Order: sequence, then structure tokens, then C-alpha cells
Amino acid sequence: MVHFVGAGPGAPDLMTVRGKKLLEQADVIIYAGSLVNPALLEDRKEGCQVYNSAMMTLEQVIDVMKQAEEQEKDVVRLHTGDPSLYGAIREQMDALDELGIAYDDCPGVSSFSGAAAALNMEYTLPDVSQSVIITRMAGRTPVPERESIASFAAHQATMVVFLSTGFLEELSRELIAGGYTEDTPAAIVYKASWPEEKTFRCTVGTLAQTAKENGITKTALMIIGNVVTQGNYRRSDLYHPAFSTEYRKAET
Ligand code: SAH
Repeated sequence: MVHFVGAGPGAPDLMTVRGKKLLEQADVIIYAGSLVNPALLEDRKEGCQVYNSAMMTLEQVIDVMKQAEEQEKDVVRLHTGDPSLYGAIREQMDALDELGIAYDDCPGVSSFSGAAAALNMEYTLPDVSQSVIITRMAGRTPVPERESIASFAAHQATMVVFLSTGFLEELSRELIAGGYTEDTPAAIVYKASWPEEKTFRCTVGTLAQTAKENGITKTALMIIGNVVTQGNYRRSDLYHPAFSTEYRKAET
């Protein structure tokens, strides 16, 4: 059987207990070498075969899974963050379906959660934004036109931009075209939860300059919106003394 497992954003102790167990029991581990912390592999079983998928094609990955299945071995396919975001898991699952190989999916802490934690940030502040848009700039992978950054910017909701550190000038331009001002708060989080983690608060107009000045060229998330300053919000009703809930009566 194949287990797709989320490795979390980087720190080994930010993996789920279930994911860790699966890793320790695996006969074969195929890990996304560009972003998965190799420290996660330290507790593997003796004799466990390890493959770095950064050097492999989809066909080669499936081939390893197929051979393992023939030998009744358990495979962990370790993806960075949570496998459901930019993980290219669907194409693997479809190939496994065709081969009749069973699989399941163990979620992980996505880097967008790791980035919020690095900034001690709540993405959904009442009166500021109640939605998070997770997106990316088009690179070699195209983004459907209807999902342009400018169209999302029009919502003025919290935005987390993946896979786009190389396109920050274009990102600023698109955000401004969509209605954000240059001084809209923004942040860059580099390698959230790794020892080399860095956070920078800037604005929509200074994203590219901030990254350049600090030598940030990859493995970063950009967070855009008024939520970045964590101010001007309304306190929650849920914990307000004048508010009754299923569990608590309002104070009079
Ligand atoms: N499935 C992953 C995302 C994979 S796409 C997840 O849930 O996080 C790879 C992109 O994720 C990187 O280009 C970068 O934008 C972001 N990323 C991954 N790990 C990161 C980290 N620790 N800190 C900041 N960004 C990270």
C-alpha cells in the first residue's frame, strides 16, 4: 500500500503523529527532496529504501511504487506541507488506480499555517477579512485566466501566494491593478519553521525590493492584505460576555 503523507512546513516536530508512525513503519520512502527536511528520515526502519523524487519523473516514482507493491512493501510518499496543495498527488493516485494499488492520504501542516505561526498571525480577523485566498503566480504551470491575482485582489481578502518568489514585481503590479494601493501591508515568510526561518513585513509596493535586499529567491510565501498589521479588528462575539452560546450564558 502507498501512504501519501504531509511532511509539514519543515520542523520535524510539526509532522502529525500519524504521519510519523507511517514513516517509521515504511519499507520504502519517496520524499520530495527540494523541500522536505531530511531530518524526518532519521527514524526510518533499518533497510528502508529511500528515494529523492526531485531527481525522478512521475513514471519513475510510479515504478518504485509498483515494485514495492509486488514485494508487499509499504511505501510512504512524503510531500512537503499538506499534500493537497501544489503536491501533484492526483496524477500519482490516478496511476495507482490504474494499477490497482491501494493508497491513502495523511494530511500535514501546510506552510501557509507555518507562515501564520511564524508571524503570530490570525488570517481571519473579524471586520478585516474572513477569507483566505491561496494562490500563485503563473510560472511554467499556467494559472487559469479567471484566477488572476488582479481579480482576487479585488476581494481585499487575506491572500497567501505560493511558488512566486521569482515574480514579485509582477505580483505587485497585478495586486495594484486589482485595486490594492502600494502601501497595503504585506509580509514575506522564508522557510517557515526551519532554523533559517525569516519574516519580513513590507507593503505591496516593496515586495520585490524586500526580497532582493534580503537575498530571498525561493521557499517563501507572500501574505497580502490589511490583516498583516493585525489591527482594526472587532473582538469576537463567541468570547464576548454579552453573547450567549450553546455552552455559556451571557452575563447580564
Ligand atoms: N504542499 C506544500 C506546498 C508545496 S509548493 C504546502 O502545503 O505547504 C512549494 C511552495 O510552498 C514553495 O515554493 C513555497 O512558496 C511554499 N513553501 C513550502 N514550504 C515553505 C516554508 N517552510 N516556508 C515558506 N514557504 C514554503
